[in-house]
Amino acid sequence: MPSSTVALSIDVEDWHQMVSRAFGVEQWDRPNRHFERQMREVFDFLDDVGGSATFFMLGQTIKNYPELAQEAARKGIEIATHGFGHEQVFTLDEKQFRRDVETSIDLLVKHTGTRPVGYRAPLFSINQDTVWALEVLSELGFEYDSSLYDTPKVPRRIAGIPRRATQLELPSGRTIWELPPSTLDLGGFRLPMGGGSYWRLFPSWVLIPALRRIASRDESRALYFHPYEFDSEPLVSPMPAELSPRNLLRAGWVTARYWVGHTQLLTRLRKAGQHFGFLRYRDAMDEVRSTLGARARSLSRAGVIL
Ligand SMILES: [Zn+2]
Repeated sequence: MPSSTVALSIDVEDWHQMVSRAFGVEQWDRPNRHFERQMREVFDFLDDVGGSATFFMLGQTIKNYPELAQEAARKGIEIATHGFGHEQVFTLDEKQFRRDVETSIDLLVKHTGTRPVGYRAPLFSINQDTVWALEVLSELGFEYDSSLYDTPKVPRRIAGIPRRATQLELPSGRTIWELPPSTLDLGGFRLPMGGGSYWRLFPSWVLIPALRRIASRDESRALYFHPYEFDSEPLVSPMPAELSPRNLLRAGWVTARYWVGHTQLLTRLRKAGQHFGFLRYRDAMDEVRSTLGARARSLSRAGVIL
């Protein structure tokens, strides 16, 4: 991966629907104008910075907004999948997981004519208990996965998550490439800095040198964001009037938390785009594959990468 580039991804899911579902709102699965505005702003941002990106699209979202997948494909954005229902993989069994991914593939093929080669699990939820998920992805023809993120937020995460794009040899002997989001080595502690939380928190003078440092070690420069992080308007979550006071407080907290540092995030991301140039995950993986070649590392059945 050339040191001048950063792989950019957007997990395309409707934040409003997800929050409504989490709070038990009836008819949470309705298209809404907020999400459409956010996606317009994502497209405008990419046009403006002049780079490309990968969209890990949620099947549930494509079902509601098929034209967005079509527009992204027309623009040359890589369309990858985020599964269908946004269930954490370790809450599913193998059969349910396979069905979830296949449903999302079918929707993408139907609406864009292209079968995705990349997958990212909701909340990076492929862990030591779900090594079989990578086998399923390989069987379904996926070339790469980007679900292994070295962050304490993932319970029982895979041990030995690679710091750069790596080909994994699975217990069955099948292989799949892993493209992990960026982490920064801070004297033995790894800061998972690939996503929006950290980009809302830290200023550019921390983030840009951090990416340079990661580049100098030839480690993975791969970022992930969400459409709501591109919204120029305050987040509004449609809550029913019958929510209990406790749930109303929780809903307010969830919304406020996602809003903190929001306006600075895009300024920082724009600067990163000017410094490095954004590219699609698939292209980043191809670069690594052509420069390093296929030096597979083994992933054991117990979820340890050797
Ligand atoms: Zn997600």
